[in-house]
Amino acid sequence: MPRTILAIHAHPDDEASKGAATVAKYVAQGARAVLVTATGGEAGEILNPAMDRPEVAENLAEIRAGELKKAAGIIGYGEVIMLGYRDSGMPNSEPNGHPDAFCRQPFDEVLERLVSIVRQVRPDIVFGYDDHEFYPHPDHLLIHDLSLALVRASADAQRFPESGEPWTIQKLYAPIFSRERISVLHEALLAETGESPFGPWLERLDGSQDLARKVTKIDVAGFIDQGREALRAHRTQVDPDGFWFAVPTDFIESVYPWEDFELLTSAVGWSEGETDLFDGVAETNE
Ligand SMILES: [Zn+2]
Repeated sequence: MPRTILAIHAHPDDEASKGAATVAKYVAQGARAVLVTATGGEAGEILNPAMDRPEVAENLAEIRAGELKKAAGIIGYGEVIMLGYRDSGMPNSEPNGHPDAFCRQPFDEVLERLVSIVRQVRPDIVFGYDDHEFYPHPDHLLIHDLSLALVRASADAQRFPESGEPWTIQKLYAPIFSRERISVLHEALLAETGESPFGPWLERLDGSQDLARKVTKIDVAGFIDQGREALRAHRTQVDPDGFWFAVPTDFIESVYPWEDFELLTSAVGWSEGETDLFDGVAETNE
């Protein structure tokens, strides 16, 4: 069995904006990657002026599913599982109340589906979300809660016995935008060009963002463009002339060639300075 990553994301495009270069790198090294996307992203706005047309808005779920498939292929996911829930929309917005909204589904029903996927896919490591204090989208908060519950439930023979043999997830990570990353990029851009698009973002991250976190940095030099290409495939969601592409790849690689992951749970420990998400894993699951 190749080493396996199961990434759980809320919306189409999250897989491309969070940890994509890292997944691409591990796939290039022979790992297997499986993507679970909870919702169709149907409450998202069209953020690319070139795609802001009535026929796109009318078929947004279908179009976003196509974008997801393309992006997942670029990153190297071997399988994409869409859970089919409805995007809950931003906090306190009207889509929160839709009966099919992801945030309104019974927690244990969704958990059971995820447990069943874990017991079939048998991943060594899983990507979920951190506590998302700076982007409190209801669907992202729910993925955080579900991913923590999933680690316990998948391994517990008493939970959902109809959904397969228990399976222990060795490590649960959350891809994060660390304050360090944003601040290093921001300072380097100011020094180099006198301007930076990261100012407002940095203001939203207070000093507590990285404190007490177990953060692993993955060197993704050579894979950043693959991640950005995947993000570009989400044509309704990203403006090719906008924020996400404002900084050239070679500049990013020269000042911060890493993606950061917060360790949320581990069955095999963790050590400061870890440079591989599979550290400690291969020996245990072979
Ligand atoms: Zn999202």
